[in-house]
Amino acid sequence: MIVDFAGIKVDNVTMAEALAKIESFLNGAQPQLIVTPNPEIIVAAQNDDELKTIVNSAALRLPDGISMVIVSKLLRTPLKQRVTGIDLMLKLIEAAAVKGRKIHLLGGAPGVADEAAAKLKQQYPTLNIVGAENGYFSADVEVIKKIKATKPDMLFVGLGAGKQEKWLARHLKELNVPASMVIGGSLDVISGRKNRAPKWIQALYLEWLYRLFTEPNRWKRQLALPKFLYLTLFKKML
Ligand code: UDP
Repeated sequence: MIVDFAGIKVDNVTMAEALAKIESFLNGAQPQLIVTPNPEIIVAAQNDDELKTIVNSAALRLPDGISMVIVSKLLRTPLKQRVTGIDLMLKLIEAAAVKGRKIHLLGGAPGVADEAAAKLKQQYPTLNIVGAENGYFSADVEVIKKIKATKPDMLFVGLGAGKQEKWLARHLKELNVPASMVIGGSLDVISGRKNRAPKWIQALYLEWLYRLFTEPNRWKRQLALPKFLYLTLFKKML
């Protein structure tokens, strides 16, 4: 089932269902794109047709924001749960370590992807990370060549909201990786350079507030939330 947020389609799946779907991508013949639309992406896509088309035609679109779950309930098209990008990524990594799958990481400032890879190897010694590239490269061709040479089963790309979706969509066919997923700033968290909110704050659905305090320069980006509420709830009532 699909839930619509201001013209952006989101798949109504649980974490377990998302994992099962990605499992089918890994056994399939076509490269597939996994995106995690949040209010910021939904607002940005209103004035960006390329982004809108990419998100709407991705193989799997996961609701990465508690406000989306709340809004979906108010609209009487309830989402089963929030599926955050970083949680899904870590579950995929865990499964990859067990099943011997090849992982390639791309994104973050120089060193971040390597540090994240080292942390993941520490936690999952059997994990096969075949490559880790920084996200500030000048030539696409070089990065694409490196990724293709390692023939990964899964590619995780964190180049910032909007940019990462477009980069992957443009190169998906050429890269020909069975499952590619956008991950925002997850490599910063996994590497330990940034902290995720403590579990109790996550449980209270206040992760956004924590980020506002710890990264105050993000406040402008968080204006997406009232815009999202306007687009999905109030505009409909007017
Ligand atoms: N980033 C990158 N290349 C760029 C721009 C950004 O690798 O040209 C990385 C940045 O270092 C950070 C991530 O993209 O790791 C930020 O993504 P975003 O802001 O979407 O993540 P969020 O904070 O929303 O999870």
